[in-house]
Amino acid sequence: MIQTRNGSCHCGAVRFSCDIDLAPAGQRSPQIRPGPWFASTLRCNCSFCGKTRMWKNHVPSEAFRLLQGAENLSHYRFGEGSIDHTFCRTCGVYAFVSASEPVMGGDFFCVNVACLDEVDPHELAAAPISYEDGAHDDWANPPPITGYL
Ligand SMILES: [Zn+2]
Repeated sequence: MIQTRNGSCHCGAVRFSCDIDLAPAGQRSPQIRPGPWFASTLRCNCSFCGKTRMWKNHVPSEAFRLLQGAENLSHYRFGEGSIDHTFCRTCGVYAFVSASEPVMGGDFFCVNVACLDEVDPHELAAAPISYEDGAHDDWANPPPITGYL
């Protein structure tokens, strides 16, 4: 089910909250926004997710609130530059991403599930994961090897 969760970087300078659904299939709320991007957590093998070990969950922009620390974020863009990767300037933790894609219904945030606070490990372990072959720009299909992601 969709629940409001708080998240933060390691040092606590950056704090956010989001409405996010970590429940397994059969226990999930109707999606706030349609599309496979919002239907599960994601692991990806692209050049950036691979190096940061990003465990992502997309949420529509209306389901994300930056509570504090905007001035403490550094921003990184690569490739077409359409995705704003943000890092805490103090501790370096990569807590969330913002971007806008028409195919995904417009503005969205991509939350690092590992930065959510006070989530029971059993719940994290049961969260559904889909895999993306970002390394080959094949976002709709899993890569041939996923065990290391
Ligand atoms: Zn920090």
